[in-house]
Amino acid sequence: MPLPSIYYTPHSIRPRARRWAGMCLLFVSIATGCLQAEHIYVLFTVDVESTSKGSPERDIWGRLPGEPEEHGIGRMMDIFGRHGVKSTFFVNVYEAAVHGEEVMVTVCRSIHQRGHDIELHTHPDPIFDVYAMKDANTQKQEEILRAGVEFIKRATGQIVIAHRAGGYLANYDTLVACRQVGIMSEYSHNRGYHGEGFAAPPLTTNKAVVYDGVLCIPVTNYVQAGLSNWKSIRFLDIEASSPQEIKEVVRQLQSHGVRTVVIMMHSFSFSRFGEPNERVERALDDLLGEFVADPDIRVVTARQLYEIWRKNPEALKGRDYLPTTGWWMTYCRAWQRLGEGWKNVVVALTPPGGVVLVIGTGLIWRHRRRRRELGAAA
Ligand SMILES: [Zn+2]
Repeated sequence: MPLPSIYYTPHSIRPRARRWAGMCLLFVSIATGCLQAEHIYVLFTVDVESTSKGSPERDIWGRLPGEPEEHGIGRMMDIFGRHGVKSTFFVNVYEAAVHGEEVMVTVCRSIHQRGHDIELHTHPDPIFDVYAMKDANTQKQEEILRAGVEFIKRATGQIVIAHRAGGYLANYDTLVACRQVGIMSEYSHNRGYHGEGFAAPPLTTNKAVVYDGVLCIPVTNYVQAGLSNWKSIRFLDIEASSPQEIKEVVRQLQSHGVRTVVIMMHSFSFSRFGEPNERVERALDDLLGEFVADPDIRVVTARQLYEIWRKNPEALKGRDYLPTTGWWMTYCRAWQRLGEGWKNVVVALTPPGGVVLVIGTGLIWRHRRRRRELGAAA
């Protein structure tokens, strides 16, 4: 009589095993579905503009004196491309009045032809004599937006669906004006930095909110350090926040049910004082590598996010939360940027300087006491 195989399953337990297997499968598919429903959307957003004393050559294309390679939007698109994702470029087309229409048309076409998301950034003063969007009434804001939308449409054929005001200086009238011209998503709200225009509800800090039919996605804010009731609030900026801080903020927002993260960049983020800023280039590469590989994170553009929301308005319904990175990460960031400004030097050197001072004072005091004791003994 043959011995039963170790894989042999008696008939009596087969139906029960099948039931268990079925239940396990059901559980796994429900769990997977829940995880899919809870992933967080991360947006890298680039404000494309020249500084007041700069030029598109330097501040948009990153053509620096003595540098054979460009360190501007072209290089950014290369890095995004290496990771298989697209980014959103908010272009300040109004500087065409200063640098020439053809210059800004070339910028718009370059972004659009490489398949990235081109949207509108408003610094309207060269054309409209308005410094901040929130200083203009709804009708004027509408006029400014319409001019920008038409410029991008003429240059690329693309219909703008997202807007960010220069300096984040927008208000609720901006949202009304956006809806009037068909811009259905807005990225100006930055509570910790010129957030007065949206200080009253319904916009909060980090939560995606729909106002008057316009999808409002805030620039992500966090607390870098606090003491009692005092909090030092910053926003996620690839130049100002370290990759460790950005990853920690994303992790905390994810665990608290916030659905979107907006990271700020500028067309000139890869250069500093006329020289390449390789630290920021490495930071972008590092963040993309980690976020793209994470199944719970989706790196998307403003246009992709808008489509996700349009098809399923529930997809972005989440909570508001203000993460804290803490003193240690702030201190580590200061050491990483020791050569980038006196504030970093002060923050980085104050603790070790304090320790040296305490030890030095103690040694001097001990030395003097011993001398006094020897003097008394003599
Ligand atoms: Zn700007």
